[in-house]
Amino acid sequence: MRTETYDGMACDDCVQMLANGDVNPEVTPEQEAAIAEGTVGYALSAPSDFEPTFSCRPCACCNSRLAGDRTPVTRFASAVAS
Ligand SMILES: [Zn+2]
Repeated sequence: MRTETYDGMACDDCVQMLANGDVNPEVTPEQEAAIAEGTVGYALSAPSDFEPTFSCRPCACCNSRLAGDRTPVTRFASAVAS
């Protein structure tokens, strides 16, 4: 089976979730729910020495429009329920 992958840019909060399985204590319960749901199936795809780039594009995971650092992530379509 072929695994389709999609690249996107994720915000710092989602990156922290993907890296540590935890969120910044400052996020609201609504943000935390969006992050927990949005990061399902995603994995960090940046090299460990990657410098995040500043962007105001929406986060690929939680859809946050807050401008800030964005880090590349990969979505594994096979992990997403169809
Ligand atoms: Zn996010």
